[in-house]
Amino acid sequence: MATVAILGGGISGLSCAYYLKTLGSSKLKYVFLLDKSPKFGGWIQTTRFPDGAVFEHGPRTLRVGTKAGYNALVLADKLALMPRILPLTKDHPTAKTNFILTQNELTPIPRGFKALFTRSPLFSEKLPIRYLFHELNCKREILEDESVYDFARRRIGDEVARKVLDPMCRGISAGDARELSIRSMFPGMYESEVKHGSVIKGSIRDGQEAISGYRDFAIVQKAQREFWRMWTLKTGLTELIDALACTVEERGVTDLIFDAKCSGLTFKDNKAMVAVDNENIQVDHIFSSIPSQELSPLVQSYPTLAEELKSIPSVDVAVVYLEYTGDVLQNNGFGFLAPSHEDSKVLGIVFDSCCFSEMNGNSKTRITCMIGGRWFKEVLGDPETVSEDAILKLAVSAAGKHLRISEQPVRHKVVLQRQCIPQYVLGHHKKLEKIDEEIKKHNLCMSLIGASYKGAGVPDCIYNAKLSVEKYLSTL
Ligand SMILES: Cc1cc2nc3c(=O)[nH]c(=O)nc-3n(C[C@H](O)[C@H](O)[C@H](O)COP(=O)(O)OP(=O)(O)OC[C@H]3O[C@@H](n4cnc5c(N)ncnc54)[C@H](O)[C@@H]3O)c2cc1C
Repeated sequence: MATVAILGGGISGLSCAYYLKTLGSSKLKYVFLLDKSPKFGGWIQTTRFPDGAVFEHGPRTLRVGTKAGYNALVLADKLALMPRILPLTKDHPTAKTNFILTQNELTPIPRGFKALFTRSPLFSEKLPIRYLFHELNCKREILEDESVYDFARRRIGDEVARKVLDPMCRGISAGDARELSIRSMFPGMYESEVKHGSVIKGSIRDGQEAISGYRDFAIVQKAQREFWRMWTLKTGLTELIDALACTVEERGVTDLIFDAKCSGLTFKDNKAMVAVDNENIQVDHIFSSIPSQELSPLVQSYPTLAEELKSIPSVDVAVVYLEYTGDVLQNNGFGFLAPSHEDSKVLGIVFDSCCFSEMNGNSKTRITCMIGGRWFKEVLGDPETVSEDAILKLAVSAAGKHLRISEQPVRHKVVLQRQCIPQYVLGHHKKLEKIDEEIKKHNLCMSLIGASYKGAGVPDCIYNAKLSVEKYLSTL
């Protein structure tokens, strides 16, 4: 019977605790999870205002159509959260419409069959169908890695790279498509070229493959029947964190400890010592879900490992919630993304009130501005010293400029998320290989999970925790 420590109580650490308990209870003596902060959830934090309005400080929606997406739905169901789910279905205006800022106008990303044959202000050079043919006929090139931008330019076209993939990377990871790795950011696209010679052909096959193994679950069938694209929970995603924490603790033999910072790790004879609050706790295995840069100083006795962990960069993002009494949005959609070449100080703005009007409270408009990321210093200066007021002013001014909102917000909240999104830059997979090699070479009884490595989306974090637990349990 093994004793296991989990470092970090964000979605990765809590999912790990859940899968250890549900899949491995017969093999485990004791599991404890440590988090340095006063509450669990990591980046998943929700503010609920007294009138029912909701502001997510971090993630707001979980995507469905991937293996990780279906797995997250199954987890939600197992946690009895099915009645709490708010889905965005295929026909919901926000699932259908996502805008890209084009010369300070909101231009919808073309979607659907008809759009393929219709000129769009987004693509001045060609009809969308021409890009599709270009991709289908583009010669396969097997490169070890390539930037997202270069990949898109080579396979689809320059305009698509500049006007779609560039803002998508800003929206998903607050990063620069010219620096981010296609292989690590969008492994499905990379592998589609390798396996099928085309992203389009590959995505059709992968879509069918993604659901295999999940088809029999009622919640997946419901999601398929009703064409769910994304989902959240009725009063925000911390419901998922609370449900996980309750379920894990309820099952006994697991301790969730907050306000407990791990300050060092030592490994000897297939055991590990976890240093926390002047105590050393001996365990058989560690799952670390803390960001790689925070794990690095804890493993200084292994300099190459520490160096590789430290070399995975991350960026700061300012998240600004603005609320307006009336319906001040002229467009209905998920929100807009601003390409890096546009004259805009924001990465994008999410139209929260359009996505989930159930969370509106007394006001009709809620939006969230994402600012900074890879461009934080250029836009806001030093994150150590920037004032909340300066961030708020910038957000209000962007809402005025891009959304023509002239009113002042009736409620706002600013959160500065430091080092919150890891950047899978070119060659990220090589870092992961080296990290793996070092762990094996020194025989460290430790598994790495969490957003720093193989997918930062919430469903990826859950799925990777599950895979990691299954792998560990198979060795016992
Ligand atoms: C602004 C923003 C918006 C996002 N939007 C979306 C979205 O819409 N959809 C989506 O799918 N994903 C989104 N993401 C990504 C997703 O939220 C994160 O990648 C995911 O929550 C990371 O979870 P994690 O558990 O791996 O790490 P974290 O949430 O970082 O958790 C790690 C935990 O470790 C603890 N810790 C750190 N050091 C120590 C230590 N030494 N000892 C003990 N504990 C320690 C921390 O306190 C923290 O609780 C967003 C992220 C951000 C920041």
